[in-house]
Amino acid sequence: MSANIVALLYLVSAILFILALRGLSSPESSRRGNILAMIGMTIAVATTVVSLHITHVTSYGAILAAVVIGGGIGLLIAFRIKMAAMPQLIAAFHSLVGLAAVLVAAAAFYHPEAYGIASASGQIETASRIEMALGIAIGAITFSGSVVAFAKLQALVSGNPVVFPGQHILNLILGLVAIGLIGFFVKTQSTEVFWIMTALTFGLGFLLIIPIGGADMPVVISMLNSYSGWAAAATGFTLENTALIITGALVGSSGAILSYIMCRAMNRSFFSVILGGFGGEGAGPAANKGDRPVKAGSAEDAAFIMKNAGSVIIVPGYGMAVALAQHAVREMADILKEQGVKVSYAIHPVAGRMPGHMNVLLAEANVPYDDVFELEAINSDFRTTDVAFVIGANDVTNPAARDDPSSPIYGMPILDVDKAKTVLFVKRSLAPGYAGIDNDLFYNENTMMLFGDAKRMTEEIVKAL
Ligand code: NDP
Repeated sequence: MSANIVALLYLVSAILFILALRGLSSPESSRRGNILAMIGMTIAVATTVVSLHITHVTSYGAILAAVVIGGGIGLLIAFRIKMAAMPQLIAAFHSLVGLAAVLVAAAAFYHPEAYGIASASGQIETASRIEMALGIAIGAITFSGSVVAFAKLQALVSGNPVVFPGQHILNLILGLVAIGLIGFFVKTQSTEVFWIMTALTFGLGFLLIIPIGGADMPVVISMLNSYSGWAAAATGFTLENTALIITGALVGSSGAILSYIMCRAMNRSFFSVILGGFGGEGAGPAANKGDRPVKAGSAEDAAFIMKNAGSVIIVPGYGMAVALAQHAVREMADILKEQGVKVSYAIHPVAGRMPGHMNVLLAEANVPYDDVFELEAINSDFRTTDVAFVIGANDVTNPAARDDPSSPIYGMPILDVDKAKTVLFVKRSLAPGYAGIDNDLFYNENTMMLFGDAKRMTEEIVKAL
């Protein structure tokens, strides 16, 4: 295949990736976006395989075997994964991108001639050493950071921030040492420095992510997404593959934009997130609030209140995802609408466990897009709404974020559900949400707790309606 044709096909796949990102910006067009991305990726992979100067049939056999095994595992995981486990799966996939960047850089380091990056003297060319060192550093940080994020999201370790005195200074020093080692490696091409640099950046990724926890995790996910893109781009430079450079840069920059959006949604600066320690304090079930009375109701009570309401705003959160209650919720909304109640859905940008989590679930349940509103668009409506039906959401409604300057989540915008005439809260207990912070809303005069599994409770409400 001529170089021009390869360049042209890579250009086509790059355009498809850009159109895919455009499509993913709205739930309505996201399926089309995904299909465009799949076509673009197929073209990119096929072009790469065909354009390699492979002479042995066995090499093609090995590539095919890798595609079948890797693709098969991916397919199996995609079919079996529960929606609620998507965030940790994404973190796990990010870690693989980081690891791949490290492995490709290591392979190129030991066999530079195979990658066409060795000079006449057998040394690796300087530009390639820079790319290699950056690939290692970003890849290793992405790998270990993503492993920590996976462990936190999978609840293998506590999701709370792990902080210790001198942490930021230590991270800063390690960061500076890593930069120094990159410079030293580029100058000397020393094997020892190569591996010290690799080990140090693995450790740095670990240390960078452990202090981040609680409500800051959305930023971590999008940040690691961005890192994985830059790691892939660095690999693209080592492999001299323009498609990989472009794809990596697209992932890297879109992940960076998403991190910015997430930070804005949490009203936090990027650096305050990185410097960590948000949420988790005072975590644990609302033990000290146990003596305060709460009003608990039944599905029949909820059905009666909503049937007689003029307007209901449904606020979904992580618990709805865990319980897979979205279909029951839509059914409930349909019945209410038939009975003349105005029903809308309010989505907080960090509701659930991944960006867009609630949008995806509601789209899956065929909730009309016109009924779904983002925080800024609907927040002022709560004060004129009869019922806020909060299902499996907690942190995103916590008034402490708005009213209590001493709260660790102070400053994060919330959905003002407490302004509605009645708040119905579906959850199983008085336990706090992901950030580990008590929610005073449970004890408000106008709140009725509906204790139970989100799906079961909603189905009972549907029956009662
Ligand atoms: P929260 O984690 O604050 O609360 C979820 C609530 O759902 C819990 O309090 C739990 O209470 C309840 N719940 C769990 N299972 C069920 C069930 N089967 N039936 C009914 N209720 C259930 O969720 P929010 O969506 O309000 O907030 C998201 C939080 O996650 C934020 O802190 C955000 O920062 C964080 N986060 C978000 C990410 C993102 O990208 N969106 C990524 C990572 C973290 P109980 O146990 O009493 O039932």
